[in-house]
Amino acid sequence: VVWLTGLSGAGKTTIAYDLVRRLNLRGHVTEHLDGDEIRQMLFPELGFTRKDRETNIARIAWVASRIARAGACVVVSVLSPYASARAHARTTVEALCVIPFLEVYVCTPLDVCIARDPKGLYAQALSGHLPEFTGISAPYEQPQNPDLRLDTTDQSVSDSTSQIISELDLRGLIISRTAAALMRRE
Ligand code: ADP
Repeated sequence: VVWLTGLSGAGKTTIAYDLVRRLNLRGHVTEHLDGDEIRQMLFPELGFTRKDRETNIARIAWVASRIARAGACVVVSVLSPYASARAHARTTVEALCVIPFLEVYVCTPLDVCIARDPKGLYAQALSGHLPEFTGISAPYEQPQNPDLRLDTTDQSVSDSTSQIISELDLRGLIISRTAAALMRRE
């Protein structure tokens, strides 16, 4: 399970799409769980209080662990601002048949995220129209010991994804490039 955490607009979803594409090319069955999508589809009743965010993360981790146990790579892109909730997510995943959990902190700084504002949410939050917005009116607890840090300020999406792939390669968690090429030829 690759768990992408970071502020809104940091680049989690964009990187997740590219990562899924590249893991598929490597011959892996891969699933993407996106925080916004899951909230909308499965848990629309949850709000943005600390308790609701923790519930959201716990449920996503549970789903991710089950999909991973079935043999797929799971890429999760979800803000997950609370350290304890992320730690709980790791425990949920790792406890289940020793599935590896890679915490990737997309650490793009707040001012860059505000300048990007891909969904116009920072504008709303800064003008006081969006309460409990992470980074503005709700906290983001930075990961102290992530498995990987990615600052996308001056980095291409492809370079960000390559860093994750390299880390997975280094840990022997994905099919090698050579084996994937051989499989494609068969
Ligand atoms: P998040 O899922 O973290 O809220 P998004 O992926 O939805 O963020 O939005 C990130 C925005 O930043 C997109 O508009 C994307 O095109 C842009 N961007 C620029 N450079 C990068 C990069 N290296 N990695 C990811 N996104 C980037």
